[in-house]
Amino acid sequence: MSDETIENVVIIGSGPAGWTAAVYAARARLEPLVYEGAPSREMIPGGQLMFTTEVENYPGFAEGIDGQKLMMEMKAQAERFGTRVVTDDIVEVDPSSRPFRLRSAEGKEILARSVIVATGARANWLGLHNEERLAQTGGGVSACAVCDGALPAFRDQVLAVVGGGDSAMEEATYLTKFAREVVIIHRRDTFRASPIMAERALANEKIRVEWNSEVVDVLGDDFITGLRLKDTETGAEREMEAGGLFLAIGHTPNTAFLDGVVELDESGYIVPPNPGRVMTDVEGIFAAGDVMDDYYRQAVTAAGTGCMAALEAERWLAHQVDGAEPATDVPAEPVSAEG
Ligand code: NAP
Repeated sequence: MSDETIENVVIIGSGPAGWTAAVYAARARLEPLVYEGAPSREMIPGGQLMFTTEVENYPGFAEGIDGQKLMMEMKAQAERFGTRVVTDDIVEVDPSSRPFRLRSAEGKEILARSVIVATGARANWLGLHNEERLAQTGGGVSACAVCDGALPAFRDQVLAVVGGGDSAMEEATYLTKFAREVVIIHRRDTFRASPIMAERALANEKIRVEWNSEVVDVLGDDFITGLRLKDTETGAEREMEAGGLFLAIGHTPNTAFLDGVVELDESGYIVPPNPGRVMTDVEGIFAAGDVMDDYYRQAVTAAGTGCMAALEAERWLAHQVDGAEPATDVPAEPVSAEG
């Protein structure tokens, strides 16, 4: 059912990209409507940072900030300027109609002149019970070495990195700054990583590799103490010491609902066609954050592209014949002057 209200901009997603887009769009008097997502086993409103205990690399917090608190602050900031928030998922976007027709999981139909997709990506996990338990309680299991590796708990420990791609090489090399030893655990006997990245990792004297090995359990009550590994060729199991576990087995962008709507690459990431711009190949649909970025994947870069999406949407709307009236008629606060 639709109430025929036409929204200026609907923002889908509630990580740093979504809330930053909302702050900018709200301050431009576009009265954004955010679909922040419904909580599920895999994702909750607020996105990946809701699973991060300490964020030490987001500018402005000299002592670091709890990931959940950071997201609550961003949401409050967006709401302070009039952002409306719905706790539901958007499951369908019809790119052929103008305004766009969106449908929520609860069956509501929403009409929108423009859409900002900021649904993020989720790190892939092994799916082990103790892995999930310790990741959610700050027990030394993480899917982001750059985010968490510098935490004091990991200093001078044996740190394990699972994966054989460029991320695993990069994260393992990064972790040698803090660790006593870094052990890459890979399920095959050759890396998928580019030769230069693999060579750099293998040349580092702090890094060794457990080939043909998979993690079958994570040991430790409140904090990880070790891993149980299984030899993928013989099936034999063994234990190893580990004071930290970092998963680097890829990410999955949350774009299933956009298949056939906007251009996606083979991994499902949105590909904006124009370099340095965030409008997708469908005019009026913009992308921000990890959903279009498999490279930087940082809260601060997501916030940056969220800002870009709101500014681009505002300017695009202003050029439409029946564009967003408040934004075109009212001289909005100079959104870019303070950013
Ligand atoms: P990726 O290339 O897809 O590699 C994922 C690795 O995880 C593979 O080695 C894979 O093993 C392993 N893996 C997947 N599922 C697993 C499971 N369930 N259990 C155990 N191992 C599992 O992902 P990525 O390393 O994140 O890289 C993604 C893209 O970003 C790539 O294009 C990469 O080049 C790029 N990237 C570039 C840089 C850089 O240039 N600085 C840095 C990071 C990433 P198999 O090999 O056996 O499949």
